Amino acid sequence: MEKLYLIRYGEIGTKGKNRFIFEDKLKSNILKSLKGEGGHLRVYKTYGRIYVETDIEEDKVLNRLTKIFGIVGVCPTEKVALDVQEIKDACLKLVKKDLSEEGVTSFKISARRNNKQFELDSMELNRELGAHVLINIEDGRLKVDVHNPEIDVNVEIREKFAYVYTKDIPGVKGLPVGVTGTSGLLLSGGIDSPVAGWMIMKRGAKVVPIYFHSFPFTSDRAKEKVIELTEVLAQYQGPTDLHVVHFTDIQTQMNESCPKELTTIIMRRLMMRIAERITINNGGKSLITGESMGQVASQTMESMYVTNMIPKMPIFRPLIGLDKVEIIARAERIGTYDISIRPYEDCCTIFVPESPETSPTVKQIEIGEKDLDVEDLIEKAIEEVEIIRINPYS
Ligand code: ATP
Ligand code: MG
Repeated sequence: MEKLYLIRYGEIGTKGKNRFIFEDKLKSNILKSLKGEGGHLRVYKTYGRIYVETDIEEDKVLNRLTKIFGIVGVCPTEKVALDVQEIKDACLKLVKKDLSEEGVTSFKISARRNNKQFELDSMELNRELGAHVLINIEDGRLKVDVHNPEIDVNVEIREKFAYVYTKDIPGVKGLPVGVTGTSGLLLSGGIDSPVAGWMIMKRGAKVVPIYFHSFPFTSDRAKEKVIELTEVLAQYQGPTDLHVVHFTDIQTQMNESCPKELTTIIMRRLMMRIAERITINNGGKSLITGESMGQVASQTMESMYVTNMIPKMPIFRPLIGLDKVEIIARAERIGTYDISIRPYEDCCTIFVPESPETSPTVKQIEIGEKDLDVEDLIEKAIEEVEIIRINPYS
């Protein structure tokens, strides 16, 4: 059966002259997310709203739309002719449906008449439609509550049709993915980096995940975990290219020629060099990490200082001010937590020195790196990067 969904979007409506760019992106992101489901599908913009018309199953539609950044709310809507009786029927039908939920006892009608030609004004509509619902629901438990109703029946009288809806299912908000650019995400198998990537995605960036894999020091199960994390993230942005960098030779070389206590930071600087190059190759202009201030040895201000000077592009650290409990709560909501806590170690934990330097100076690092000549290895790693395409819509 054909159904209509009204898409509410907030922030993107405030962008002035650029507003259409945001709306068009949102429209095309919605279209892409549902196209693969088959069936009839039309996404259109009218009256400063986006509507989705489709016969795809409601559960599937809502599952997709509630993961599209830019959407504030999704309202399954009845579209009826500009006819009082038809509007009454639609109101009654929706109230009856919502009444089947436990504990629901009150409602109100919120009518808006944009089409001034229509025979009733909004006050009259509120009265007539409200009376119709009350008369036709006989179990006596339903009452009108204009301040705090459990069912709010929205009626919009437009140029050609009337639209009626009661449910407003919350979306993920933010900006449509793609409107602000592309960003390389240093994605490990841990809890933090997937959350960091999600947060920048929410600000409209297309994220390119980059994972440093040190087989056989890290098992293919660790890589599998990162693939699964990418699958979750891809639900929110569409087709995603996970870049797997084979890091073993570089790491081995580093461990042979650099002081033990500096390896964590030198490794981080090497990762930045490679990640920046991959990001440039993908048209990106920033990097993202899951660092949070003071969480571990490499996340002191001094360490970030000496890491930050490697790439020219900005490094976003959206988790910098969050503590672990807050990050975990977000990971659970996004859907990455259960994957992240699986116990496969990553390359950082394996090579972690017993007493890592927590306040390195630039001089110290430069001396530490002097015997390190990995330019060829880096070149090779970038040439041989493995790209795993994840398409959540196929
Ligand atoms: P996470 O939970 O994201 O793994 P963490 O608390 O384990 O973070 P670190 O090991 O210090 O912290 O890593 C800091 C950041 O460096 C990570 O959030 C991630 O962005 C990046 N990073 C670490 N290891 C890798 C890796 N193997 N591949 C890609 N990025 C990595
Ligand atoms: Mg980690």
